[in-house]
Amino acid sequence: MPANQKTEDKKTEDKKTENEKNRTDTANLFKNPDGTEKILKRLRDLTDPARPLRLMEICGTHTMSIARAGLRGLLASDDFAVDGFLCPGHVAAVIGSDAFAFLPEEYGIPAVVAGFEAADLLYSILELTALAAAKTPALRNTYVRLVKPQGNPAAVRLMRQVLTPAADTWRGLGVIENGGLAIRPEYAAWDAARKFSLPAFQDAEPAGCRCASVIRGALSPDACPLFGTACTPADPVGPCMVSGEGACAAAWRYGPAGLS
Ligand code: SF4
Repeated sequence: MPANQKTEDKKTEDKKTENEKNRTDTANLFKNPDGTEKILKRLRDLTDPARPLRLMEICGTHTMSIARAGLRGLLASDDFAVDGFLCPGHVAAVIGSDAFAFLPEEYGIPAVVAGFEAADLLYSILELTALAAAKTPALRNTYVRLVKPQGNPAAVRLMRQVLTPAADTWRGLGVIENGGLAIRPEYAAWDAARKFSLPAFQDAEPAGCRCASVIRGALSPDACPLFGTACTPADPVGPCMVSGEGACAAAWRYGPAGLS
């Protein structure tokens, strides 16, 4: 094996070890009430109460084209108000952590590629909070045990073989050119939308629902007039309250005041 390859491999292994240690330390803290208080204190120490940070967890950006086009559409909206992105580890496992490098490089917004266990998320939130509070535009990968900078080239090749970027509708953002994926004509026989003549997705918000603003980080869920009254997880009005991962459902479950 060439010497430079050995050096690179050693660096990757060292990074994995450091990453795993930080993750385990956070997990151990999380397991007891005192530790949880310590994590909250670290978060409070990192932030200025007069300037709350807005961190956005992004998910479903299953390809490079969606990640790039969809997020660019989000970043271009006038009322966009997010200080950092928590990027999806399962997507990055395929397309690579480097696919999110444009966020700090072109938009000056920090991004952390995160895993999904509680320790992964806590550790990643701490990392992202530190970057956002210091206004440091950088990309970190805290999911190195699975995500490589270049992802999984064989999977990306397969996706490109079957799918092609196409205009699509994003909730709250409207139609974004190359914001979705379409099945290539040569695979049309397996295209359910064609086969069953499915109608295109319509981004119509229920009356009074402010999901579009919540998704852009422009409105806190509890600022929606329907939050907790007409709209609850048991009887949701909009999509942000339907899924447990939705911003409104999370705010309802864990408290709209967050960590304050
Ligand atoms: S999901 Fe419910 S609380 Fe959230 S913006 Fe829509 S109506 Fe308001």
